[in-house]
Amino acid sequence: MSSQLVQQYYRADKLPHIWCPGCGHGILMRSVSQAIHNLGLDKDKVCIVSGIGCSSRAPGYMDFNTLHTTHGRALAFATGVKMARPELEVIVVTGDGDASAIGGNHLIHAARRNINITTIVFNNNVYGMTGGQYSPTTPNGDLGTTAPYGNIDKSFDIAALAGAAGATYTARGTAYHAQQLIKLVENAIQNKGFSLIDTISICPTYYGRKNKKGSAVDMMNWLKDHAIDVKAAQKLPPEKLEGKFLIGEFKNVAEPEYTEEYQKIIERFQKER
Ligand code: SF4
Repeated sequence: MSSQLVQQYYRADKLPHIWCPGCGHGILMRSVSQAIHNLGLDKDKVCIVSGIGCSSRAPGYMDFNTLHTTHGRALAFATGVKMARPELEVIVVTGDGDASAIGGNHLIHAARRNINITTIVFNNNVYGMTGGQYSPTTPNGDLGTTAPYGNIDKSFDIAALAGAAGATYTARGTAYHAQQLIKLVENAIQNKGFSLIDTISICPTYYGRKNKKGSAVDMMNWLKDHAIDVKAAQKLPPEKLEGKFLIGEFKNVAEPEYTEEYQKIIERFQKER
C-alpha cells in the first residue's frame, strides 16, 4: 500500500491490522480506498459502514466517517444514514455471511429500493472470525468446521441475488484482480442506486486449510486460473467455461433512486399541506 494512501485514508494508530498473514481482505480494503482516491471524493463526505466479521474490521482502519455495527445489520444502519444525509457517499463493507445470511433480508430490500449505497461483499466462502463455519457462499461439497462431511447446501451467487432483487449495479471481482476491482468500485460508487460487488477474497486460515487449498499464493493462483471476465466468456463455447467463475460487470442500468423519490414526496407534502 502506498504511503500516500496510508497517510490520507488510514488511522495510523490502528495499524498494523489483525487479519491473518495471507488474508485477501487487505487487498480489497486497499482497492476501495484507491477507488475513493481516484474519484477525488472528499473523505468527510464518505461514510463506511460494516457489520460483524473479519471483513467488517475494515472501517476500523479506514479514516472516514465510519460505523461498525451489529451482525447482519450494516445495510439497515447504512439505509438510515443515507435517508438522513443523502449527500453522503455511503459504502457498506460486509462479509458473505453478514450480507447474505444474517443480513439477507436487509440486502434484498436495500436492492429492491435501489437506494444509493455501494455494497462491497468481502466473500471468503466461510465465517472466518468465528472459526470457519460454512456460510451461504461455501461451495456445495466443501468442508467447514460445521460441515465436516461436506456442505450439502447450494451456494448463493450474491451478485445474481442482488441483481434479481433490484440492484441497478452488480459485479464480481477478486483479490487477485486488484486493478480491475478498483475500476469496478469506482463504477459502483458512480452508479446512482444500489450497487453490489461480490469480491472473492481468500481465507487461508480456515477455508483454505480445511479444504486443502494450499498456501495463500496457491489460493491467489487459483483465482487467477479460474476467474474469467464476463465479456471474454461470451465469446467462448460452454465447455471452455467448465469449472470457471465469472468476474466483471453484470448489470449497470439507470432507475429511480430511493432518496430522490422520497425527497419528491416531502416536497409534494409541503406544497399540498
Ligand atoms: Fe482473513 Fe480468514 Fe484470517 Fe479472517 S480468518 S482474517 S478471513 S484469513
